[in-house]
Amino acid sequence: MALFVQKYGGTSVGSVERIEAVADKVKRFKDQGHDIVVVVSAMSGETNRLIGLAKDITDNPDPREYDVLVSTGEQVTISLLSMALKKRGLGAKSYTGGQVRIHTDSSHTKARIQSIDTSKMRSDLDEGNVIVVAGFQGMDDDGNITTLGRGGSDTTGVALAAALKADECQIYTDVDGVYTTDPRVVEGARRLDKITFEEMLEMASLGSKVLQIRSVEFAGKYNVPLRVLSSFQDGGGTLITTEETDSVENPIISGIAFNRDEAKLTVLGVPDLPGIASRILGPVSSANIEVDMIVQNVAADQTTDFTFTVHRNDYDKALAILEETANELGAREVKGDNKIAKVSIVGVGMRSHAGVASNMFTTLAKENINIQMISTSEIKVSVVISEKYMELAVRALHSAFELDQADSVAE
Ligand code: ASP
Ligand code: MG
Repeated sequence: MALFVQKYGGTSVGSVERIEAVADKVKRFKDQGHDIVVVVSAMSGETNRLIGLAKDITDNPDPREYDVLVSTGEQVTISLLSMALKKRGLGAKSYTGGQVRIHTDSSHTKARIQSIDTSKMRSDLDEGNVIVVAGFQGMDDDGNITTLGRGGSDTTGVALAAALKADECQIYTDVDGVYTTDPRVVEGARRLDKITFEEMLEMASLGSKVLQIRSVEFAGKYNVPLRVLSSFQDGGGTLITTEETDSVENPIISGIAFNRDEAKLTVLGVPDLPGIASRILGPVSSANIEVDMIVQNVAADQTTDFTFTVHRNDYDKALAILEETANELGAREVKGDNKIAKVSIVGVGMRSHAGVASNMFTTLAKENINIQMISTSEIKVSVVISEKYMELAVRALHSAFELDQADSVAE
């Protein structure tokens, strides 16, 4: 008998029929003798609808009132699911985040969980109840309702699993796991049985949006086994763990991530002097613009070219700032490009294998794709290329690293 925390996302509870289907699923686990804590999101579209109502009144809703409002979506689903469970003869109790003593700081709309008092949940479980908790919310010291940021129900699930020392936190969603890459781009994309937290974080931060990133960090930190599965079809899903599986039997690369969200800025012919990088990037960060990749080259004439990427939404603002800085520094020219894409290969196997980056570059060269920037970490190689070649690059890399073959042995 195990203790599972099961989180069901918005589409999984998107209608009364789906809520009944979730209740059937939970019942099957209960019938097998497991203890179940369920965390639910609001019905799909509901949180957006609530935010829309607030925006109809003001562009700048008061954060405390915003939290009171948007936390109501989840309160609807916990009660309906509990009714459906009771209809099936199960003991069930619904709780808001505050009721189940998810204690957070007071940063409304992006609160952080500080502690969870599990004593009440324990006694409910001991009495045989299914506990149904509203995701995405908590309560601060003064009893104010707080919310954890969009997608925060994943974090609620993981936090409850950590606090209750659950055997697994299962995230039920509308996809059946984490894929080697987006199946809409590569038909042969394959569901991974397992992936490490580190890899998942790289994949997620690069744009594979299956889980809220914070929940993955949280699960990694507290070593909560996390599984992503479909609530619509059966299957083992993808297990996210600390365990690195034997690298001889596993591909070196676990997946390929990509995103079109970036833009590139270059300042050419800046004097090559100490402090230049900070003079260039200082004003950018003062404007609250996040910088991702950075490349600097020194030319023979004692000047340097300095390139960096920012989120595409910040492109115009960053360009204006950079033009001003370039003027002050006596730089030759400023250039920008917002038609770029970042493609990355991710895998813990890179630590123990040489030649991964060069294999990537050879593959792109064969397709005649020009690499504009490169950055690496221990388990990732990213390149910036022209946006129009992004899908071609992803497909070529997916096959070069043999990701579409279930039992590929890459050495
Ligand atoms: N309902 C919230 C949202 O839509 C939280 C969640 O679904 O995880 O962001
Ligand atoms: Mg979600």
